[in-house]
Amino acid sequence: MTSLSARIRSLAQTGDGWAVYYRARALREAGAQVIDLTVGEPDRGTDPAILDALVSAARNGQTGHAPLTGTDALRDAIAARVAARTGVATTRANVAVTMGGQFALFVACMAVADPGAALLYPDPAYTSYAATARAAGLVPVPVPARPEDGFAPRAADLAAAVTPATRALLVNSPNNPTGAVYDADTLAGVAEVATANDLWVISDEVYDSQVWTGDHLSPRALPGMAERTLVAGSLSKSHAMTGSRLGWLIGPEAAIAAAADLCNTTTYGPAGYIQSAALHALSLGPAFEARLAAPFRRRRDACLDRLAAQRIVSVIPSGGAMYLMLDIRATGQSGTAFAHALLDAHRIAVMPGESFGPAAAGHVRLALTRPDAELLAALDTLLTFAQHLSQEMTP
Ligand code: PMP
Repeated sequence: MTSLSARIRSLAQTGDGWAVYYRARALREAGAQVIDLTVGEPDRGTDPAILDALVSAARNGQTGHAPLTGTDALRDAIAARVAARTGVATTRANVAVTMGGQFALFVACMAVADPGAALLYPDPAYTSYAATARAAGLVPVPVPARPEDGFAPRAADLAAAVTPATRALLVNSPNNPTGAVYDADTLAGVAEVATANDLWVISDEVYDSQVWTGDHLSPRALPGMAERTLVAGSLSKSHAMTGSRLGWLIGPEAAIAAAADLCNTTTYGPAGYIQSAALHALSLGPAFEARLAAPFRRRRDACLDRLAAQRIVSVIPSGGAMYLMLDIRATGQSGTAFAHALLDAHRIAVMPGESFGPAAAGHVRLALTRPDAELLAALDTLLTFAQHLSQEMTP
């Protein structure tokens, strides 16, 4: 075969970051009972009322091409949600509907700079960031955040990583994988570094409906930031619509118009019947979103109670998102070794912290996406397992 481009080859996931996940899947396929706490997908399906809207829109003929970056009604509804949550004046001209938050991130990376420019992002991070940047020709530059800061990035660390090639900073709050919710000081630091160096900020806010402590803050709401911030949003988590692939990009009008040009050469936009379902989903309002988030909040609280009752495993302050990042360094193991051993011994699958970047070494991430009793039983087993390992360490 004639050779493939270096760019497309650079997208392959390298290393064994997903090895525990694939082992858990293989065990399950071979008939073993595995409690899978690896993947962050809501454990309930899309609400029947939203599915009714989807089906009736399809049956009523919305099966042809739909507006590329969303119907006016959908863009208005998204703009209203964004304005209500962040206080920033937002109109349909600031909204491009995309196929999931993931495509919004890709559009953002394509929009902010030309090939060869650097994009900074705090490590640990959502696993797709580096490859998404490379797909757009950017050079991803992880900037280590620190466990002792709850993995919130320090402005001084970001500033020190800026070079003449740097064009953008990508931040994510509430954060996957850590559950961190950036406070006002952290975001002020991000804004300061962006402004001082004339950078774009790409803000991944797909978990904005899952905030357990404080309020969701968007860097776009800080003074002067709306002109240099692109926000990725999604119905995947807030409305349990992962498979519908419905997200959006928020930004200055010119950036949104350019996003439409990119959609014109790539996705052609989400199907009309999905857009109608999304409009219905948004019409259900914040109470519906709170109802969908409630199980994750409840499970997070119950897990924190269990964790408070022991001293071996500590938890990164979890202000939001459906994850808990556990510090298992007292066991003497890496996150990877711990996760494999836990799967071997107890058929419980968690993500090694190292899968999300070297800064999360010695941690494991739990997705709170199993029913309460199953999740808590798995956590109890994990804690006893960690206790035994730590005892083996003491002479
Ligand atoms: N950003 C983060 C941090 C995520 O965790 C995810 C999904 N796991 C996405 C973006 C993309 O989500 P989607 O494309 O389904 O909206």
